Amino acid sequence: MTHNEHRLMGCSSDEEPGAGTMIFPQIGSHDQAVSNRSSEFIRRYFPLTNVTSWNDWRWQLRNSFTTAEALSRVMTLTDDEKNTLHRLKNRLPLRVTPYYLSLIYDSEPGAPLRRTMIPTSGEMIITEAEKADPLDETGSSPVPGIIHRYPDRALFTVTQFCSSYCRYCTRSHSVGKLGHLTKDEWEIAFRYLEEHTEIRDVIISGGDPLTMNNKKLEYLLSRLRSIKHIEILRIGTKIPAVLPQRITPQLVSMLRRYHPLFLSLHFTHPDELTKETRRACEMLADAGIPLGSQTVLLKGINDYPATMKDLMHKLLTVRVRPYYIYQCDLIPGSSHFRTTVETGIDIIENMRGHTSGYAVPQFVIDAPGGGGKIPILPSYVVESGPEKWVLRNYKNNRYTYPNKK
Ligand SMILES: *Cc1c(COP(=O)(O)O)cnc(C)c1O
Ligand code: SF4
Repeated sequence: MTHNEHRLMGCSSDEEPGAGTMIFPQIGSHDQAVSNRSSEFIRRYFPLTNVTSWNDWRWQLRNSFTTAEALSRVMTLTDDEKNTLHRLKNRLPLRVTPYYLSLIYDSEPGAPLRRTMIPTSGEMIITEAEKADPLDETGSSPVPGIIHRYPDRALFTVTQFCSSYCRYCTRSHSVGKLGHLTKDEWEIAFRYLEEHTEIRDVIISGGDPLTMNNKKLEYLLSRLRSIKHIEILRIGTKIPAVLPQRITPQLVSMLRRYHPLFLSLHFTHPDELTKETRRACEMLADAGIPLGSQTVLLKGINDYPATMKDLMHKLLTVRVRPYYIYQCDLIPGSSHFRTTVETGIDIIENMRGHTSGYAVPQFVIDAPGGGGKIPILPSYVVESGPEKWVLRNYKNNRYTYPNKK
């Protein structure tokens, strides 16, 4: 593929009906109905669009909202939002799919999903500790596209494009900007993974890898699968939340040919668990793909125990296992999103023991400067020593475990 083809990925046709092998026909039988919210949005603002177009992920990409003017046609922007939108030059651009905007357009300023997508002036305030590349991913990048920080796994950023841009994106220094990998750089990345036989786990990330078309994704997966020492593959994506139309029977039957393949899904708030998104997760789960979730802790958006618990419970009902909650990284203009570490600890404290262990993710801080993910737990250990450990449970009762010599 050429540099240009890579940039235009997602726009070529690879999904004519019948493409891909339908091994499990029931995967395609999920009813692709449109939720009431989206129906109302289509009726009001896309009256000439039929449901087939709306459900076509390429239509969603082509019709995504990228300017203040486009947004103003479907929603009332505040002056603060409007002014900020006009000051995004050289920053993370605006991009929201029509589907995701249908969850936002009639909400109040300050509503959770609205704040994650529509910039406000808080984004213009840069504080001292903030850095363009807060995790120093550049410092752990031996070749373009590869971030090799841990001994046995590597992250491969295969695209800088997303269907919708999160205002708090950790990679906002690179995501949404030019500088995609060239064909040669892809080959250099594959060669690096081939030569490093200690790598048994590759995380395909970006940007959002599922914005690439099936042909290109399959090339990537088959190329990685041809490397014998790579045991598991993972894809990190927000697609089921922002562009669930992308999860087609063709995509799913292609993905399932590259098992063991895991998906890490990015979710922010229970409002994202619509009929469309639930259907997308169920299709992926039916294909035997283990699904985990990742959530960034965001002030005023999801930093309440009840909101987070609701999100985790809803995810479990569509077979997504909560994996990580992240403390928000120190990216430029993130102070209005960041909350205290104690807030995250309190959320875990309110879940562990009170609800299914499967609903409780790991709360982590990705160490500024590149130390990797560090788990943060409420302190359940009251006292420890060679004789005994004194522990407290979720009700704050104390128990002693006699230590074995
Ligand atoms: C998060 C991350 C991983 C994967 O970490 P796990 O804890 O195994 O999920 C790998 N590489 C980098 C650079 C990461 O940021
Ligand atoms: S989906 Fe992920 S990579 Fe894309 S903008 Fe959001 S946080 Fe960044």
